[in-house]
Parts: sequence; structure tokens; C-alpha cells
Amino acid sequence: MSGRNIDTEVVVIGAGPGGYAAAFHAAQLGLRTVLVNAEERPGGVCLRRGCIPSKALLHVAKLVNEAREARAWGIQFQEPKIDVSSLRAWKDAVVDRLSGGIAELAGRHGVEYLTARARFRDSGTLDLEWPEASGADRPSSIAFAHAIVATGSSPAMPAVFRVDDPRVMDSTAALELQDVPPRLLVVGGGYIGLEMGTVYAALGSRVTVVELTGGLLPGCDRDLVRPLEKRLAKTFDAVWLETKVDGLESGKDGVTAFLSGGKAPASMVFDRVLVAVGRVPNSTGFGLENTRAVVGDRGFVEVDAQRRTADERIFAVGDVAGEPMLAHKASREAKIAAEVIAGQPSEFDSVAIPAVVFTDPEIAWCGLTETQAKAQGLEVEVARFPWAASGRALTLDRPEGMTKLLVEPGTERVLGVGVVGSGAGELIAEGVLAIEMAAVARDVADSIHPHPTLSETLMEAAEVALGHSTHVFRQKR
Ligand code: FAD
Ligand code: NAD
Repeated sequence: MSGRNIDTEVVVIGAGPGGYAAAFHAAQLGLRTVLVNAEERPGGVCLRRGCIPSKALLHVAKLVNEAREARAWGIQFQEPKIDVSSLRAWKDAVVDRLSGGIAELAGRHGVEYLTARARFRDSGTLDLEWPEASGADRPSSIAFAHAIVATGSSPAMPAVFRVDDPRVMDSTAALELQDVPPRLLVVGGGYIGLEMGTVYAALGSRVTVVELTGGLLPGCDRDLVRPLEKRLAKTFDAVWLETKVDGLESGKDGVTAFLSGGKAPASMVFDRVLVAVGRVPNSTGFGLENTRAVVGDRGFVEVDAQRRTADERIFAVGDVAGEPMLAHKASREAKIAAEVIAGQPSEFDSVAIPAVVFTDPEIAWCGLTETQAKAQGLEVEVARFPWAASGRALTLDRPEGMTKLLVEPGTERVLGVGVVGSGAGELIAEGVLAIEMAAVARDVADSIHPHPTLSETLMEAAEVALGHSTHVFRQKR
């Protein structure tokens, strides 16, 4: 290894949406910044094997499903012929284009990007482990004033699923789209299981979901999940709730899953299995124990409101620093950490972190949920606007949606927003803004929303809260 060593004000470890956002903002604030990423291409899980490739495939799933549904509107398309290798190439091109953009931006921001695995030697030094093929002029260590850990997370793979068979996949393998298996088992009815199940079902797989708890998307309000469950009952082969996979066995004709609990058969054979039972933070294996940073019981690096660890020179953001494991939460935390290092009095004080499940229909929520309100014993008023009363929803033939507002009794302050329906993910940002700006229902109701759009359902839900919705009749009390 050459002797070139780096001395920098900020080093960021990991170039996902937490890491690259932190590095770019640190550079924007005038700090000399190095970004170290174990992978050659920047973007992390979100861009390379998470948010972006999954949403490219979900876009295709939507197109396939809408083409099928068009029959009811008098338009008949042939059944689609799916060229898996072209689809894979298109998805990969989207990913590569975005990755290239991030690399170019790093250059423009003057951020030095290194493809190496970083390891803490102590609270001021990182050692770098380079891939075999890297060039001669490679630094072996970095001395830093501040470090931001943004190492992300990895798929959880409990021992029962660890069979040596490529047909048993995690989300990364499922996104590679090697083929369209005739029979797909999805273990886990959470974000990944339902999004990827939706993709494979649209491409032609018969999808079975096995979920450990009593409902899909545990934690999410049931009234938001219900329209999705109804649709999945038609597009998936089966959804087995309160069911456990006791074992997997590889065979010539498929992978046999042994199931217990719920109403599922004792065993079923599948062509592929996707295990999507959660993710674990990447907080070990890179020398954090050589610093004063503390890793908690669940594996997350412990941070304060400024995203500072117990080691005052080291910060942590993104999936490694706690839930929710979402890209936009990572990027927000990244900005906070960079600003604090630059001497600004920033804190992570967001009250509404939106969540979107990109299924069909989509589910989105932010702020307080009914489930949380109940658990905390908080009294809230819930105003629901059914999309069956929305002109726009009917022109899209998607009347099953619903928009709801959780409002504080007395003040009418908007505390939470939930939406289920086509395009819910695009609507929720208005809810985030309303909550962050401490809007009351009247603010939302009195803001003119364009007609005919689904955004009007937020305005009308606010009108329901005030008792004077135009399109929903409510008996006067
Ligand atoms: P990551 O994106 O995980 O990036 C971490 C980076 O650190 C990686 O590049 C890794 O190689 C690098 N690294 C790790 N250790 C080291 C080391 N020692 N030295 C150098 N580099 C290192 N979230 C959403 O908000 N919306 C979505 O639609 C969405 N869809 C998803 C779909 C799937 C299939 C998956 C798996 C996740 C999805 N997520 C989504 C979650 C999202 O991907 C994560 O929340 C996000 O990537 C977290 O960003 P991060 O910067 O913390 O870490
Ligand atoms: P998840 O936590 O969303 O869902 C995991 C599901 O698996 C849960 O419903 C859980 O009850 C179930 N489960 C756990 N163990 C099981 C077992 N042994 N058998 C059957 N079911 C079991 O996790 P995920 O779907 O793996 O996704 C991981 C994380 O990635 C998400 O929590 C989210 O933070 C992020 N993500 C976000 C998006 C998005 O924003 N649209 C998309 C994908 C992933």
C-alpha cells in the first residue's frame, strides 16, 4: 500500500442516501470532505438494490395491471409478452444513470470519493481496505476531525431460511429478476414482501405470502390496509396470516416450505422463495468498538438529537442509526449531522416522517396514526373522506381509496394523515407540510385544491372534520 494518507475535516462512511447527502451538505458548508464507500458505484441500498429498482419494476407492474383492467373500459390489449432480460436491462440502466449522477455530483461538490472499506482504528483515524484491482496511489488511512457513519442495513436472514439454494432469495436477489418463477413464496407481509410480491404477480408468478402476525403491514392502521388486502386477495394466490415457516427443503422440483399455525397447509412446494422479514443495521465489522460510540441492544448506533454518537467526533445517520429505515429519514438526518459539524444549532426535530408502501393501492401515512393514538391513550377526531365520492378517483376507476385526517379535538390541529389509494405516495407530502407547519383543519379546507385531482381528498377530509364537506353528507347533530 502507498504511503499517501488523508487528513480531512469530515469523512463519511457509506454512500447511500444518508452518506452522500451528508457528504454533499458538508461540502456545501465549506468543509473538506471525503466519502468512503465499499462499493464502486455510489447510491447505497436505496439506489442500487432498494427504492429505485423496486419502483422501476412496480411501474411496470402498474402498466401490466392497468392494461388488463382496461378491458372493463372497452379497450382490449393482448396478454403481455414479458422479455425478462430487456426489463432487467432497463431497470439496471435507471440505476446506473442515477448512480452516475451521484458520482458526478460528488466531483462537482469537491468531495473525494474512495471505493474502499473503512475501519475505525480509533476515534480520529480510519484504516482503508481496498479492492484487489485498485490502483497504486491509494491512501491506507484517513485522519479526521469528524466522521459520519452511514453504513446502512442488510436483509435479516434467520437461520431457518439459510439453506444453500439460490432459489431462496433476499430482496437483492429478487430485484435481480433472474426469471419469473411460476410459484413464488414470499415470507413476510411487510414493505418488501408486498411490493416485490406485487411485481412478481403482475409478471405472472402465483404468489403466496406467509406472515407471522395477524395482519399485513403490522403497525399500519387497519382501515388503510383493508383496500390493499381486498385487492391482494384477487392478485395473490394466498395470504397466510399467523403462520410460521418451520423449515425449507431443497428438492429437484422446487423448494418445500414447512408451515405451521394459521390456516396454511403443512407443506407447499415453490419455484422460488423470497425472505423479507426485516433488515438489520450494519453496525459491526468496521471497528466501532475502537471508538466510544455505543451500539444498543437492537444493533443500532445510539445517537442524540444532533445525530452525535457517544463519541463526540463521530455521528451516525440512516438505517444504522435507528428506525424508521427509510431513505428520506436518512437524508434528513444527514443534513442535520453536517450542519452540526459546521457549527450550526441543528437538531432532528421532524414530527412527520412519511411512510409509503408502493403497492397497488399505495398506502401512505405521516404524523400520528390511529394505532399510536390508541396505544398512547390520546383522544383524536378522525375525519375520513372515501374516494368513492371523488370525481378524479372515479375517472381513474379507483374508488376504493380513502383519505383521513387525525385532528386534535378542540384546536382542530392536524396531527396525522393517512391515505390509501392509487398514487397515495404523491399525496402524503401535503400532510407532512400541514403537520410541520402546525396547520389546523381549516387551513387545509380553505386552501383551494385543483379540480379534479386526488389532492382534493385531503381538502375534503379537512371539510369532513369541520362538518361541511361538499361531497360527503353528514347528518347534523
Ligand atoms: P444504505 O443505503 O444501506 O447505504 C450504506 C452504504 O454504506 C452502502 O453503499 C454500503 O456499501 C456502505 N458501507 C457499509 N459498510 C461500509 C464500510 N465499512 N466502509 C465503507 N462503506 C460501507 N426506503 C424508502 O424510503 N423508500 C423506498 O421506496 C424504499 N424501498 C426499499 C426497497 C427495498 C427492496 C429495500 C431493501 C429498501 C428500501 N428502502 C426504501 C429502504 C432504504 O433503502 C434505506 O432506508 C436506505 O437505503 C438507507 O440509507 P443509508 O444511507 O442509511 O444506507
Ligand atoms: P418489514 O419490517 O416491513 O416487514 C417484515 C414482515 O415480516 C413483518 O410483517 C413481520 O411481521 C414479518 N415477519 C418477521 N419474521 C417473520 C417470519 N419468520 N415469518 C413470517 N413473517 C415474518 O421488513 P421488510 O419488508 O423486510 O423491509 C425492511 C425495511 O426496509 C422496512 O421496514 C422499511 O423500513 C424498508 N423498506 C421501505 C420501503 C418503502 O419505503 N416503500 C420498501 C421496502 C423496504
